[in-house]
Amino acid sequence: MSDKTIKVGSIVTIVNSNTIFNGKQGKVTKIRTKSRNLKYGIVFPESETRHLYGVNEYKKNIVEYFASDNLQIDEDWRFDVKANNLFGKRMWHHYFKLQEAIDQSLPCPIMGCNEHKSHRALINVWGVVHEFDCCKHHFQQFNGTLRDFLPE
Ligand SMILES: [Zn+2]
Repeated sequence: MSDKTIKVGSIVTIVNSNTIFNGKQGKVTKIRTKSRNLKYGIVFPESETRHLYGVNEYKKNIVEYFASDNLQIDEDWRFDVKANNLFGKRMWHHYFKLQEAIDQSLPCPIMGCNEHKSHRALINVWGVVHEFDCCKHHFQQFNGTLRDFLPE
């Protein structure tokens, strides 16, 4: 993996079976250049590391350092990480993923809304997490909510 492509803000997965962080996804928050080998400081989402750190330690945004060959660069957060962060691991069992990118030429599906689709919300309907494209306003209203039905 090239050093050039990893930067602050990159989302990465740890690929090193010798660490308890193997397979975990996090965000690069610091790059340490002191030594000859660059080290990347990763902060993991609470849902990924809560069980690894002591009580309340996970809240401190602990930075863990890895070399670039331990990192796989990801386009986005994995759906399971997103859903765990929003709802908690025990609150969902299935994930309904939209296959296409957001079509911003389409109107927001909420009745009476005049905006276009621009955001992808995650809505938990009885343990099934649905990706749901809508406008920014309705994203803020519905993202991360538990509902009986998808909004209309
Ligand atoms: Zn809307």
